[in-house]
Amino acid sequence: MSDTQEFIPQMRPLFGGEEKAELMAYLDEDGFFTEFKKTEAFERQIAEFTGARHCIVVNNGTVSLTLAAIAVGVGPGDEVIVPDYTMIATPNSVKMLGAQPVFVDVDPDTLILDLAATRAAITPKTRAIMLVSANGRAPACGIAAFEALARETGVALIEDAAQSLGSVYPDGRHIGRAGAIGSFSFSAPKIISTGQGGALITDDDALADRLRRLKDFGRAAGGTDVHDSIGYNFKFTELQACVGLAQMRQLPGRIERKKEIWRRYAEGLAGIPGIQLFAHDLSLCTPWFIDCRAERRDALAAHLKSQGIGTRTMYPPIHQQKAYALPGHHPVAEEIGRSGLWLPSMIQLSDAQIERICQSIRSFYLG
Ligand SMILES: *Cc1c(COP(=O)(O)O)cnc(C)c1O
Repeated sequence: MSDTQEFIPQMRPLFGGEEKAELMAYLDEDGFFTEFKKTEAFERQIAEFTGARHCIVVNNGTVSLTLAAIAVGVGPGDEVIVPDYTMIATPNSVKMLGAQPVFVDVDPDTLILDLAATRAAITPKTRAIMLVSANGRAPACGIAAFEALARETGVALIEDAAQSLGSVYPDGRHIGRAGAIGSFSFSAPKIISTGQGGALITDDDALADRLRRLKDFGRAAGGTDVHDSIGYNFKFTELQACVGLAQMRQLPGRIERKKEIWRRYAEGLAGIPGIQLFAHDLSLCTPWFIDCRAERRDALAAHLKSQGIGTRTMYPPIHQQKAYALPGHHPVAEEIGRSGLWLPSMIQLSDAQIERICQSIRSFYLG
């Protein structure tokens, strides 16, 4: 097998010498490993990068959503509106606290919650909307429309921005800053990773204080056993923070490369009938994964696999997953379940590999 014919995975995290150097230097410090100064530095960097007043890191991007929901007052029996197209972590995060996710269909161009359908789904039991900025995109109707809906109805807006580090709204705010709380994930496939990890951002001092207590047994301050409120243990570790600090230094370069990867795919796939990339405004959005609609999707994925190219089918409609099995019809999410495909999207993808992938897709549709 020649070098260029090596298997191309759909995604792989990228860790290297910088992460190793941070970790080795920390190991020489005789620290406690649990969250402390490295974690504080990592939180400060995310706050600075996003422009948020506070950042609180936790052990993943699912419990971050659970904590955000608790912090805005969601409790057992409450309803939380979530998109039918998202990673299943979004609805599961509120299931965990006994609240009821209510699934709403998404906009066909952005795959973000449909505004009118969201409004129609609000009941007296609705406590929060979890807006997922799918693949770094912003709602076509404008984020201000969702902020206005939340204000008008008294429902809290939480942003699941797990896929949106490096993407901004047209008004210049980083995605995740429009909601009362914004949530990020640093799981292995995300633009930067700490293996597992999540972050919450907010400008609200009281919410930030609540989130800090919730993740640390309800403690008012570190090292004490005095607890005024109920809390859990969703803390970070210094080892993750070391990796995160190294990854944050690479973030600007990764953002540029992700945009360049999308540009090259857009060029390489132009004019091929049967495949359509989702549109991105690269001046605002950093496409995290290369997402597309593909005719005969499963046959295309099999063809690419036979040529040593990995893909991943996009999220199936969650209301139809066995875990939920709910009635209802969400045509856009269902259509994505049939036609949505993620192409190889890792940061280390070479230009030659992108060309090879586009050629292979061309030969599938055009022979
Ligand atoms: C990755 C992701 C999550 C989950 O994050 P974890 O860190 O894996 O728990 C939640 N929501 C969305 C939209 C995601 O992409």
